[in-house]
Amino acid sequence: MTAPAPRPGIMDIRPYVGGESAIEGVSRTVKLSSNEGALGPSPKAMEAVRAMTAEMHRYPDGGAEQLRQAIAARYDLDANRIVCGAGSDELLGILCRAFAGPGDEVLYSAHGFLMYSIASKACGATPVTAPEVELTANVDNLLKAVTPRTKIVFLANPNNPTGTYLPATEVERLRAGLPAHVLLVIDAAYAEFVTRNDFTSGLELVDSGDNTVVCRTFSKMFALGGLRLGWAYGPENVVGVLNRVRNPFNVSSAALAAGLAAFEDTDYADLCKRHNDYWLPWLSGKIAALGLQVVPSVGNFVLVRFPATAGKDAASADKFLRSRGVIVRAVAAYGLGDCLRITIGTGEENQVVVDTLTEFVKG
Ligand SMILES: *Cc1c(COP(=O)(O)O)cnc(C)c1O
Repeated sequence: MTAPAPRPGIMDIRPYVGGESAIEGVSRTVKLSSNEGALGPSPKAMEAVRAMTAEMHRYPDGGAEQLRQAIAARYDLDANRIVCGAGSDELLGILCRAFAGPGDEVLYSAHGFLMYSIASKACGATPVTAPEVELTANVDNLLKAVTPRTKIVFLANPNNPTGTYLPATEVERLRAGLPAHVLLVIDAAYAEFVTRNDFTSGLELVDSGDNTVVCRTFSKMFALGGLRLGWAYGPENVVGVLNRVRNPFNVSSAALAAGLAAFEDTDYADLCKRHNDYWLPWLSGKIAALGLQVVPSVGNFVLVRFPATAGKDAASADKFLRSRGVIVRAVAAYGLGDCLRITIGTGEENQVVVDTLTEFVKG
């Protein structure tokens, strides 16, 4: 007798390991490993969750009506073409399963978000990567890597873990250069943090065709990672697929309540944005001043490159930071073994990181 076997590809997946949150033997930790909003969720989101507990026995609104209407109104979108998901991860996974399978290729840039590799293998498709230029997705290289088997191109914009982005004109050029049957998935998880005139999350590209979808999340700027909430905006044909394949009650009522409250609390979101606007250059500058290479980031995190010198490399830095209770993200799984990714924290946390790194570099 042989045990049940999963489909080909599934056992090739290296399970996603989330950012750690505790270190044994260290009481106070500074967790900057998962790009979670530094200031925590909006107090109004917390209140909205408290207020719904007596209704937890009710199924959620499977159509996420109120939240979709609010999102549509804010960005001037067609609410019927918004789909909510249990985090954008769920939506990325469904897109992969629905549009790609065995024999198909799923394309993304060399240091693209890990979920793209996981989701493509999980549906039996073959992940293909295109080289980056200066740790940034490169449209020419992506287009060169397209084959007749390519079904999906994922573009994280800005990208995690590099923090780099493509301007709107380049994203448009990518779309224009892709065959019409290739679905372009723009994963704009950090869009809310970006302050660049030439950046857009890509929502307008969705409306100009039937082959582009944008995914957004409530996990980063809105700091609701624990509740799992994201959304996608796509053309009718793609939205029809998402609504057929997703579970009918994929988003919990707590997530819907918190999401709506957080979304409408624009004062708090502005505060979080200003926090990042101040601390991102601050942290980047302080770390660069230590002689470490900081990749220019437009997100709420920075990728820092360490020298290869024994005792001064990324692994040693990670170990040293941990010994002081500071948890950042090792990104060897992305092929960036010489780098660490550090989330922008509170002012105090950012100071702790800089002090600890200073001690590491100078010590
Ligand atoms: C964090 C992240 C997501 C997923 O977030 P969810 O919590 O699943 O909504 C998607 N894409 C990128 C690039 C991310 O960094």
